[in-house]
Amino acid sequence: MLAKLQHIVQRVNAAANLHEALEIIVHQVKAAMDTDACSVYVRDPVVPQYVLMATEGLHPSSVGKIRMTASEGIVGLVATRQEPVNVANAAGHPSYRFFPETGEQQFSGLLAVPLVHFRQSVGVLVVQQERQRVFAEEEVAFLVTIGAQLAASLSYAALGSAVSPHEPGPPGPVGLIQGLPGAPGVTIGSIVLPSPLAELDAVPNRVPDDIAGEEANFRRAVHETQQELRASAGHMEGRLSGETRAIFDVYILILGQDDLIQGVVARIRKGNWAPGALRDTIAEHAKVLEQVEDPYLRARAEDIRGIGRRLLLHLMSDLSAARGYPDDAVLLGDEVSLARVADVPPGQLKAIVCLRGSVVSHTAVLARGLGIPAVMGLGPRDVRSLDGHPIIVDGYRGRVFIDPLPAVIQEYRRLIQQEGRLSTKLAALRDLKATTTDDVHVGLGLNVGLLTDIDVAANLGVDEVGLYRSEFPFMARDTFPMEQEQYEIYRKVLTAFAPKPVTMRTLDIGGDKPLSYFPTAEENPFLGWRGIRLTLDRPDIFLPQLRAMLRANVGLNNLRIMFPMIGQVDEFKAARGAVDRARRELGEEGCECPAPAVGAMLEIPSALLSISALARYADFFSIGTNDLTQYLLAVDRNNPNVARLYNNLDPSIIRALYGVIREARRRGKPVSVCGEMAADPGSAILLLGMGLQSFSMSASAVLRVKWAIRSFSCQRARQVLHRAMRMERADSVRGMLNDELRRAGLGELVLA
Ligand code: PEP
Ligand code: MG
Repeated sequence: MLAKLQHIVQRVNAAANLHEALEIIVHQVKAAMDTDACSVYVRDPVVPQYVLMATEGLHPSSVGKIRMTASEGIVGLVATRQEPVNVANAAGHPSYRFFPETGEQQFSGLLAVPLVHFRQSVGVLVVQQERQRVFAEEEVAFLVTIGAQLAASLSYAALGSAVSPHEPGPPGPVGLIQGLPGAPGVTIGSIVLPSPLAELDAVPNRVPDDIAGEEANFRRAVHETQQELRASAGHMEGRLSGETRAIFDVYILILGQDDLIQGVVARIRKGNWAPGALRDTIAEHAKVLEQVEDPYLRARAEDIRGIGRRLLLHLMSDLSAARGYPDDAVLLGDEVSLARVADVPPGQLKAIVCLRGSVVSHTAVLARGLGIPAVMGLGPRDVRSLDGHPIIVDGYRGRVFIDPLPAVIQEYRRLIQQEGRLSTKLAALRDLKATTTDDVHVGLGLNVGLLTDIDVAANLGVDEVGLYRSEFPFMARDTFPMEQEQYEIYRKVLTAFAPKPVTMRTLDIGGDKPLSYFPTAEENPFLGWRGIRLTLDRPDIFLPQLRAMLRANVGLNNLRIMFPMIGQVDEFKAARGAVDRARRELGEEGCECPAPAVGAMLEIPSALLSISALARYADFFSIGTNDLTQYLLAVDRNNPNVARLYNNLDPSIIRALYGVIREARRRGKPVSVCGEMAADPGSAILLLGMGLQSFSMSASAVLRVKWAIRSFSCQRARQVLHRAMRMERADSVRGMLNDELRRAGLGELVLA
C-alpha cells in the first residue's frame, strides 16, 4: 500500500497544473482501491462552495457543475466536520443530496475524506461503489493517508495553476498567491528569475530574443569548457591517480558527443534559451543512463550532470555580464540571495518575492533596508516559466498577483498613489526630532548592511546607526573578504555617519545566513553554530574582522562593537577579550586604536535571564526581537508552516521585554531594540511605554515610527502598555494598538 501511496503522491506533485493533478488523483485512487468511482471536490474560496473538479465513474459532464455549500450534502458535512464519512448506503444518509446529472444512482457504498490544509478544508475526496457495504478499515486508512498528503500538494497545485495563464485556474481571484508580508509597500513590475549559478535544476525557461546568438553562446561555452578541462587535466598530470585523471577524459569525451550538443541546439531552436535547453538535454541523457543495469554506466549519469554544471557556469558567466534587467524588476526565487540582489543595477529593483522565508528572514530585512516591498513564504511551486510576466507585489498583505487582471492593476495603481501621498506627508518629518508630546527625546537609529544603504540613509535625520550587519558584505562575495578589504568597507560606513555612533555587529553567519563558501551543514542550524559561537571558535575569521573595525575607527572614534547570539556571560567575556587582544596587537604593530564601547545583543532567552551578570561586563545592550521571538516561542522565523505562530506581540514577549528593559535601565546600561519590532509604529508605542529610548530600524520605517512617537506622550504609551499586559492574545494587542494609532490620527499607518 505504501508503494502505491508514494507513487500517487509523486505523480500528483509532478503534475503540470491543477487540472492534471486532479485527473491523476481520481484515476490513480480508483485503480489503487479497485472501486467503482472516485471524485474530488475543491473549495471555491469566493462563493464559498465545494465544486466537483474531477471524477472517474460519475458522469464527466457534471464536472464543474455540481456545487455544494458547507451545509449541503455528504461532501459539505465532511468538509465542515473535517472527519470521514463511511456509509454502506449513501442515499440513506440524512445529509445525502442527489444530483441526477452525476448518474450516481447505481452507487451505494460511499467513503468521503476531507482534504485539510492549515486547518482549512480545501476539498473532499470521495470513493463510491455499487456494492452496499461500508469500506474496510484499511481502505479508510488508505484514503485518509492519501488525503492528508494530497491536501498540501493540492493547495499548492491549485495556487500553482492560478499562476499559469494558459491553464484554467481554480475558482477564485486569478493569479493571486497568498504569502507572508516581508517588507511594506506595493509595486507593479516584471518578474525576473535570478539565474542561479551552476544549479541546473533551478534554471528557468526563457524565450530568447536572438536564437542564433543563443546558439553561438552555447557553442562558445562548449569550447571554453573543453579548453578548461584540457587545461585542468594538463595541470594535474602526474599529480592525479589514473582513476581521477580518467574523469577528465570522460568529461572531454562526453562533451565531444554530437547528440548532446545537437540536443541542446535543437531545443534552443524550438525557442528556449541556452541554459533551459541545456537543463532539459542533460536531464534526458542522465535519465537514460540511470535506467541501465550496468553500475558503471549508471555512474556516468553523474558525469553528465557534472558536465552540465560546468557548461552552465560558462554560459552564466557570459550572461551575467550581458544580462539586461527591466526598469521594474521584481526578483522571484526560492530564496533570493544578496549576490542576486547586488546584480540588479540600483533603481531597477522594485520588489523581492521568495517562495521560502518570512518577515524576519534576511532577504526581507534586506528589502526593508532598500526600501522596496517584499513578499515571502509563497510555498513551493514551479515558477520556471514566469520570467518576464507582470506581477503586483503587495508587501503589506503579503500577497502577489501574477498576470493581474486590468481591474486589479487599476486598484493597485490607486493604492500606489495613496502610498505616494503618505510618503509626501512623512517627508515633512525628516528634519524634526523624534520627541514625544511630553517632550521626551527618543533616539532613532538605522539598521544598515550594504554600502548602498548609506545613500538611502542620507537626510533621514537619524541619530546613529544602531545595527550594522557586518555579515552582508560577506554574503555578497564568493570568498572571505580579507582584513584590508573589510577595513575599507567599515571605514566608508564609519566615515559616512561620523560623528554619529555606528554599532557594528560582528559576523552573524549560520542559521538562515549561510555563506556559500563556508558551508556548515547542520541538522538544526538555528540552534547550532551561529553568530558568536562560530566566531569564537574561529579566531582566524574573528580577529581580522575586529582588527579591521578597530583600524577603521582611528581618527573617527564613532565605533561601537556588538556581539550577536550571546547566550552566556563567558561568551561575552571571551569576545570582549578578543577585542582587547586585537587592540593590543594593533598597538604593538604601531597602530594605536581608541577603545570602542562593547555591547551584547539580547536575543537568546538565557541572555535575558542573565542580564544582571552581563551588565557587569557589557557597556550597552541591544535587543534583537527577531531571534528573541523565535527562541522564546520556539517558532522558526523562516518556516511558513508556523508563520502564524510567529508574533512579537505575544504577551510572553511583551512581558520578557518589559522585564529586561527595566533591568538594564536599573543597572544604568543603555538599551535599545534593533529587531523588527522597533520598526512597527504600534509596537514602538509599547516599547516607549516600557521606557525604551533608543530604537533602530531599516530606513523605510524611520519616518513612520517618528510620526508615531511624535503623536504620543510617554504617559499615554505607559497606559497602552498596561492595557496590553492585561491581554491574553497577540491579536487583541494588535487590534488595540491599531485603535490607538487611529485615535491618534495615524490611521494611514494601519494599512496592513
Ligand atoms: C534580531 O535577531 O532581532 C536582529 C536584529 O538580528 P538579525 O535579524 O540580523 O538576526
Ligand atoms: Mg538576530
